[in-house]
Amino acid sequence: MHYEDTRAFAQNQDAQDPLRTCRDQFLFPQHNGHPVLYFCGNSLGLQPKTVRPAILAELDHWAEHGVEGHFRGDLPWMHYHKFLTRQTARLVGALPHEVVVMNTLTVNLHLMLVSFYRPTRERFKIVMEAGAFPSDQYAMETQARWHGFDPAEAIVEVAPRPGEDTLRTEDILETIEREGDRIALVIFGGVNYYTGQFYDLPAIAAAAHRVGAYAGFDLAHTAGNLPLQLHDWGGDFAVWCSYKYLNSGPGGPSGVFMHERHGDNPALPRFAGWWGHDESERFQMRKGFKPMRGAEGWQLSNAQIFSFAAHKASLDVFEAVGMEALRAKSLQLTGYLEFVLDEVNRKKNMFRIITPRDPAARGCQISALTDHRGKALFDYMTENGAIADWREPNVIRFAPVPLYNSFEDVWQVGQLLAQ
Ligand SMILES: *Cc1c(COP(=O)(O)O)cnc(C)c1O
Repeated sequence: MHYEDTRAFAQNQDAQDPLRTCRDQFLFPQHNGHPVLYFCGNSLGLQPKTVRPAILAELDHWAEHGVEGHFRGDLPWMHYHKFLTRQTARLVGALPHEVVVMNTLTVNLHLMLVSFYRPTRERFKIVMEAGAFPSDQYAMETQARWHGFDPAEAIVEVAPRPGEDTLRTEDILETIEREGDRIALVIFGGVNYYTGQFYDLPAIAAAAHRVGAYAGFDLAHTAGNLPLQLHDWGGDFAVWCSYKYLNSGPGGPSGVFMHERHGDNPALPRFAGWWGHDESERFQMRKGFKPMRGAEGWQLSNAQIFSFAAHKASLDVFEAVGMEALRAKSLQLTGYLEFVLDEVNRKKNMFRIITPRDPAARGCQISALTDHRGKALFDYMTENGAIADWREPNVIRFAPVPLYNSFEDVWQVGQLLAQ
């Protein structure tokens, strides 16, 4: 695609953008009376305007009905998680009984490991990306210890080659092959939070299965960013959060995918709670856990209604637009950001883009590795109304989000950096 570093070009792109009005559905923080240049949707997505009325409706429902709110109205609380199922399944390319929304991300990661990390003396290793998000690192480390293994021995990290920033798929697959039947679990992010690299999830799942290991994915930076086909890609489970690209608000709930080959296996160990129990007998309060079919059988607790209501409002936005249309715009918008950053760099030489140059190997995030002036540059941007995301030691992450960012936003952030 041909790009130009001019306001006229950016405005012309916006005028032709079929998703240009989506921006009006979101609330932007203000800077000096203008909306900020918001490039932080990979950390906390902006608030859809429909979220406030959705939460207020639940407060009113509670005020009006008290406990009866569980059974009354269009969205009775008792079944609230089900009202998210269809849209969630569509969002990640799963069958409805393969997904559920519950808890928060790291909690769900541990719950999945209860079922899918059951090491033996021979098969106990976890293969993961080096430099995974810290919460995932801590989860793996403490799971290994909990089962009596030394994390240094149990956890095998795949790292970029010397002088490279991102992983080669061949190196991931080669590591899985080499460790072979010592591997219990292969777990990867979808998109790495630091570099923005999107991994080849079907290839990783297939390689894990070839050596008899399970494959799981943390899609925190992937859900709502890229179209997914989790069922067809064949991984055993996946988890994600809803407050990044999915715009459901701070601390929002997590989604879980459980491939149908496991969903109906009551023998699979799990930590259970009453909400995972067969709903036809849930309130008989009897002994003996009998799981629900599919992913719902991993639920512990009744739904956190206010955060689920925000999530539902946001999922409505995604359903109306569709991931394919979002991805089509995202490819152009992210490509434009890459072009603009390259233009700044040509003149100023301030950073190096570490995100893959291949659009198929990334979502909408571009990470710029800065030199010693990086933090000052980042602070200058913030003071001037551009919100990106600083990651220690020295990376600025920019995420132009196709739902609410414009080409003009991208052009403007380039102007600011060039100053
Ligand atoms: C954002 C993120 C988390 C955060 O976990 P919470 O339990 O939601 O606080 C964990 N893992 C990854 C990969 C993330 O990107």
